[in-house]
Amino acid sequence: MSVLDLARPEIRDFTPYVSARSEAVLQPVMLNANESPWPPVVHASLNRYPEPQPRTLRGRLARLYAVHDDQILVGRGSDEAIDLLMRVFCRPGKDAVVVCPPTFGMYTVSAGVQGAAVINAPLTRGRFALDAEAVLAACTPAVKLLFLCSPNNPTGGVVSLDAVSYLADALRGRALVIVDEAYVEFADSASAVTRLARHENLGILRTLSKAWGLAGARVGTLLASAEIVGLLRSVMSPYPLSTPSVEAALTALDADGERLMHGRVETIVTEREHLRDALAGLSCVREVLPSQANFLAVRFDDAEGVRRLLAGQGIVVRDITRHQGLADALRISIGTPEENRRLLGALSADAQGSRS
Ligand SMILES: *Cc1c(COP(=O)(O)O)cnc(C)c1O
Repeated sequence: MSVLDLARPEIRDFTPYVSARSEAVLQPVMLNANESPWPPVVHASLNRYPEPQPRTLRGRLARLYAVHDDQILVGRGSDEAIDLLMRVFCRPGKDAVVVCPPTFGMYTVSAGVQGAAVINAPLTRGRFALDAEAVLAACTPAVKLLFLCSPNNPTGGVVSLDAVSYLADALRGRALVIVDEAYVEFADSASAVTRLARHENLGILRTLSKAWGLAGARVGTLLASAEIVGLLRSVMSPYPLSTPSVEAALTALDADGERLMHGRVETIVTEREHLRDALAGLSCVREVLPSQANFLAVRFDDAEGVRRLLAGQGIVVRDITRHQGLADALRISIGTPEENRRLLGALSADAQGSRS
């Protein structure tokens, strides 16, 4: 039994498109891809198609995440990897995925597009912790993918590596466990990448959109076995990454960029703890959930009132009241120290105003 046997048979037997760029490296005269031979004014190499999986970027990400080059799939954000996982592993109308709400919405959206059923295994009430036994109980034979988000968006809590391993072992031969680590750079806990060698049915999502500050470049990765990566590549669009995005990512990932990222993450974490204490002291705040990410989920006496008050001062926060168990909450991203001061200023002035 190989993990590939879990995939749709029509995908396993699929003959992928072979792009011109993947067949030949750049040579002085390129006449194989119907490209214009003249570079455009904006960018010296935009007349050429990009590499399907740019070797330099992949190598850099492999070093960063401590995996082999062939264990990385680079795509247009984690969103693309989520979508590819659905398409490769879930047969429409037959297979299902398990998610642990309140959590990131893309899992459910992508499942819906694919026609896969979504089974909810909610986090525990109040504390929003993962209940591994309940999650396992939710994994019916139809379930092919289990999504764990750690740190979780929008609650900020983490899933322990022991829980990840426990679930991956229990679901071996049945389903993949996908750990979404979009915010792991802000967390105290280690990445599940250290468990990759142990579990053939484990996949990890990482992104340059958050700690690395490159959301506009759309670069995200799936770390998984070379077999899974190969299978996903076979259905991926031929040139998922644009050349400017790849170059921006490589610049951001150089030595200076990495130092800058670490410094900024440190600032965000310090600000997060400061903001958490300050918010918890405000009379309009019911609770601030402990967070390992670059945001805080905050319960208010009047969440909608607070949202409108902030909006009136040009401060936009995320309404998360539609989430199960968070009907009184807003999600507040950690900004620059100056932005955080403005947020606190607006909320404290309001608290004083309503007392007088
Ligand atoms: C922001 C976020 C991502 C990142 O998505 P990209 O497509 O890489 O920008 C992934 N997962 C979660 C939970 C997120 O909040």
